[in-house]
Amino acid sequence: MPSMTVPPPDRVSVDVKMQRLNIEWSDGHVSVFPLDALRQACPCAECQGDDVERITKPGVFHIFRQKNRWQNLTVETAGSVGLRITWDDGHSGGIYRWDRLRSLQPADDDPT
Ligand SMILES: [Zn+2]
Repeated sequence: MPSMTVPPPDRVSVDVKMQRLNIEWSDGHVSVFPLDALRQACPCAECQGDDVERITKPGVFHIFRQKNRWQNLTVETAGSVGLRITWDDGHSGGIYRWDRLRSLQPADDDPT
């Protein structure tokens, strides 16, 4: 996958009730990640989330199929690099880089 320059998004928000993390990119694309899928995509060496290449937007009933419910996560930006998420289980091993987050759920017209 060719690397592309991905500017930090305009807005990142967590919806604990719906178990989603929303990213509003500066070009208008919105990525919606189910929290459980993001946890599985944790980029640290221990989790080896690099195996996760795509995360699809959650459907209406996705919330009922999630194995875990995440209630107390902390999301903070790591400079211009990406997101650091501290999960309920205390895990905060890796930084989710902006370019990886974008490639996990790209816009239709993103270069592939
Ligand atoms: Zn991890």
